[in-house]
Amino acid sequence: MTETTTRSDLSSTYDAARAYELDRAHVFHSWSAQAEISPMVITRAEGSHVWDADDRRYLDFSSQLVFTNLGHQHPRIVAAIQEQAAHLCTVAPAVANGARSEAARLIASHTPGDLDHVFFTNGGADANEHAVRMARLHTGRHKVLTTYRSYHGGTHLAVNMTGDPRRWASDHGSAGTVHFFGPFLYRSAFHARTEAEECERALEHLDQVVSLEGPGTIAAIVLEAIPGTAGIMIPPPGYLAGVREICDRHGIVLVADEVMSGFGRAGRWFAVEHGGIVPDLITFAKGVNSGYVPLGGVAISDEIHATFAHRTYPGGLTYSGHPLACAAAVATIRTMEDEDVVGRAERLGEDVIGPGLRALAEKHERIGEVRGTGAFWALELVSDRSTREPLAPYGGSSPEMGAIVKGCQERGMLPFANFNRIHVVPPLTTTDDEVREGLAILDAALTAAAG
Ligand code: PLP
Repeated sequence: MTETTTRSDLSSTYDAARAYELDRAHVFHSWSAQAEISPMVITRAEGSHVWDADDRRYLDFSSQLVFTNLGHQHPRIVAAIQEQAAHLCTVAPAVANGARSEAARLIASHTPGDLDHVFFTNGGADANEHAVRMARLHTGRHKVLTTYRSYHGGTHLAVNMTGDPRRWASDHGSAGTVHFFGPFLYRSAFHARTEAEECERALEHLDQVVSLEGPGTIAAIVLEAIPGTAGIMIPPPGYLAGVREICDRHGIVLVADEVMSGFGRAGRWFAVEHGGIVPDLITFAKGVNSGYVPLGGVAISDEIHATFAHRTYPGGLTYSGHPLACAAAVATIRTMEDEDVVGRAERLGEDVIGPGLRALAEKHERIGEVRGTGAFWALELVSDRSTREPLAPYGGSSPEMGAIVKGCQERGMLPFANFNRIHVVPPLTTTDDEVREGLAILDAALTAAAG
């Protein structure tokens, strides 16, 4: 037998030193200065842990980019991908396929209201691009309103819609996007002192922006039901209902971007459930199949679906509803149903993460605010509690933030850090003890970095 028949095509990829060397020679990394990075080589993973090239184990408090909601190497998801691969790896979007149909049915069974139709994409940014295209065609209007302190993706329109600093380098103001302030009491743009005031003033502000932009020009308001990478700001009670009312009054399509907050992350199947509203479109990705194979999509209401009943929807993607990705979604959603993963996420937030982070705030002056729900939490770090001066500037970093992240990694935990925030976003299946272990590491890293 020749070597080629006995060796797998992948055997050379198991050499970690070679993986690093080839990465530095040939892989161009996102959101990075290429010569200044030194990516960690991850060689294997299981559940809430990953291992590096030196076989050091890390607790993954980031769920990578907040997508491994069921952890790594979940046997049911792996088996579904393998079974689908053995049976039928791929087909074009125009045909019907069992894995795709079943994934759409399962997704529709958990979206609120009549959002019963699913357009599949490859991820979150393209889901938002398509949601806006649908809204524009449905309304015949052009403008899109989105919040500052948001992230909607890295493609052309999605990065224009993004409110956070990742937009700055790419936004030429040509996309018809207008930004407004969402509610964020800790750094209120409205000088509000209570959640109720913040809610009322944020809605008055949005109402004014709509009037001044011209309601008849606005196709959609796109917002994260709970803004994720921009800081996990839970909207005050009544805010989402108020936005829904503004949209209804002016015939504006409400798009909830649930790419990060959906599929259990916020202790509900979709975070809009916390606000008791039904949007017209929901965009999703990440948790829909724990990110095992790229998948995203738009869940569409009956009314918007009807717009395209006898009118061609002018858009599509080669890999829309890829069978391997949909097979992973079927296994993910069925596992979530069978094991009440959404209920587990809610309890994890209420019983372990929330109380644990509040206890850290009692101890560490650097913690200005603790926010979150489910397995979706942020620590807002400040250099001075009375002035609320962020520990790193908006859009930037600081030596102390760097030291906190490094301190966590050295102690065996991977945090999710953004500007002056540490997000605690472990897989929803992380055990209580694992979460407590991660919080103890965070505690030690905060102490060490404060000197
Ligand atoms: N929308 C939100 C709320 C996100 O958090 C992200 C990614 O983090 C995106 C959209 C973009 O998704 P993707 O990177 O899959 O294109």
